Amino acid sequence: MILDLFKLDGKVAIVTGSNTGLGQGICRAYAEAGAKVVGVSRRPSTETAEMLGDSFYNVIADLSTCDVIPRVIEETLNKFGRIDILVNNAGVIKRQDSIEFSEENWDTVLNVNLKTVFFLSQAVARQFMKQGEGGKIINIASMLAYQGGIRVPSYTASKSAIKGVTMCLANEWAKYGINVNGIAPGYMATNNTQALRQDEERSADILARIPAGRWGTPADLEGAAVFLASAASDYVNGFTVAVDGGWLGR
Ligand code: NAP
Repeated sequence: MILDLFKLDGKVAIVTGSNTGLGQGICRAYAEAGAKVVGVSRRPSTETAEMLGDSFYNVIADLSTCDVIPRVIEETLNKFGRIDILVNNAGVIKRQDSIEFSEENWDTVLNVNLKTVFFLSQAVARQFMKQGEGGKIINIASMLAYQGGIRVPSYTASKSAIKGVTMCLANEWAKYGINVNGIAPGYMATNNTQALRQDEERSADILARIPAGRWGTPADLEGAAVFLASAASDYVNGFTVAVDGGWLGR
């Protein structure tokens, strides 16, 4: 049955940024699809844990440094015994005019959104290769993997790079049965866009350009996230799927 291909029964997923927003939605979707989920967050994912019960385990870790990566892998293996799926969702954005943009705002964003994403993917791919059954890596990019944005140079750099790294890793790891793909969310109503949504002029401009006529929600991302984590996407490699209400096509 075609729908069986989308099931995640018996799979173990690591999702970073599991306490809120898009990451919380992905955790919920994976648990509903049958997976055990390890959420990585720097603050406790209390609400997510309450929603998902025994299907969920929380690793507390600040992903601004790669030092935490061995512990993320170890705690996941201790709890659930294997890893099948990694979603690199945790991300941070800093807004400042480029003419004044600080080195701190550059490094903060690049460390979380790019450096840790790469080295966590590498660590998880090594585990996939040890297990010998392939695996799925999903990187959460952005419209700013395709466009320049305004006042967010480090975020644009990180998300454009993530789209490229997604293709590079797919090229190297497809032969091990590891699918590396991305999702580029459009404008979604989460903490990440709170400042934008509070700016009446920017918010109206953005809304006017979305063909679907509304901001996205975490639930809007869940279908693509399950598809790319499941056997239904076994022949999809290195592609970043836009879930954007039509923004990019406009
Ligand atoms: P969000 O609600 O702000 O979630 C971001 C998540 O990343 C939070 O769980 C946050 O934890 C976590 N995080 C940030 N820095 C971290 C660190 N150093 N260590 C561990 N966790 C850290 O925003 P969101 O919209 O759900 O964002 C999720 C992903 O989607 C991000 O990669 C974002 O760039 C991307 N995205 C969002 C949109 C949008 O419109 N919302 C559009 C395109 C792409 P804390 O809560 O502790 O900060």
